Amino acid sequence: MSVAGLTERLFYRIARRWIAGYTIDDAVKAAQDANGKKILAIINRLGEHTPDRKLIDAYFEEYLRLIEVIKNDKIQGTISVKPSQMGLALEAPLFKSLIFKVLEKTEDEGLFLWIDMENSPYTDATVDTYREMLASHKSVGICLQSNLKRTENDIRDLLPRGGKIRLVKGAYPENREIAYKHGKDVNANFTRLMDLLFDQGEFFAIATHDGKLINAAKALSHDHKADFEFQLLKGIRDDLKPGLVADGFRVSEYIPYGPEWYNYSKRRMRERKRNILLFLRSVTG
Ligand SMILES: Cc1cc2nc3c(=O)[nH]c(=O)nc-3n(C[C@H](O)[C@H](O)[C@H](O)COP(=O)(O)OP(=O)(O)OC[C@H]3O[C@@H](n4cnc5c(N)ncnc54)[C@H](O)[C@@H]3O)c2cc1C
Repeated sequence: MSVAGLTERLFYRIARRWIAGYTIDDAVKAAQDANGKKILAIINRLGEHTPDRKLIDAYFEEYLRLIEVIKNDKIQGTISVKPSQMGLALEAPLFKSLIFKVLEKTEDEGLFLWIDMENSPYTDATVDTYREMLASHKSVGICLQSNLKRTENDIRDLLPRGGKIRLVKGAYPENREIAYKHGKDVNANFTRLMDLLFDQGEFFAIATHDGKLINAAKALSHDHKADFEFQLLKGIRDDLKPGLVADGFRVSEYIPYGPEWYNYSKRRMRERKRNILLFLRSVTG
């Protein structure tokens, strides 16, 4: 086996904790495991930045199948979709047409649709499409990132339209003109935006593994009658999840699957120095 092949195999061994596997069956199994712990599942078919029309159509068809499987297998949960996998990396009108069809399908099956947020070249088109959806649909939410300076304006624009926000710190490197670069500024903005959501949000998600921010959300929930849930990624801070459930909070786990695990896992790897050490240790034995 080549060095590249061996490295990939070792990386997959580490990545396996963050992804369900390659197939819908793997995702269903991971979702059932989560449901067994009273945790809802948010299933994501991996794949992004796809300008290939055939591949986009295949992703689209697979999401329609996945929605049916979630419904038929009585999975407690739903799906989350990346815009650049649904045509946004090719042309915005294609994305709009496909994501609206996915939304109609989730609505038909009584499910909620989450739209992931990707790097900043896609933000405008994603938010614009979401705003359009809100004119006629309710069961749809969008992810917004506290590292972006524009996010407060986006939230203030979307909430009065019935926007449902998943708040995250942001997984993509962005430049300082548009983004906060220091962790403490990203966290401070997260706190400000979380206050705004607890004050004015109809339904929203606090999606972080940051213990301080989770505690701040818990404290806010005592003073506000907010409809919200905690969302965490599969394989990260598993120690926190049972406690949140036991405290009576709604908790969802984001469960990605599919052969395109590499980019997703690279982002998870980057987020924590200890993950890189883990990887190096597995390479050096
Ligand atoms: C449900 C969900 C959906 C998301 N959707 C999007 C999206 O659509 N767009 C987007 O840009 N980002 C998304 N993200 C990712 C997010 O932006 C962050 O990159 C990611 O959550 C890490 O940030 P953090 O808030 O956990 O805080 P951090 O400060 O990164 O981490 C806080 C603590 O969590 C633990 N931790 C965090 N990451 C790891 C890791 N990889 N391995 C081990 N421990 C870790 C560590 O204990 C760390 O100290 C999503 C996150 C979640 C939970």
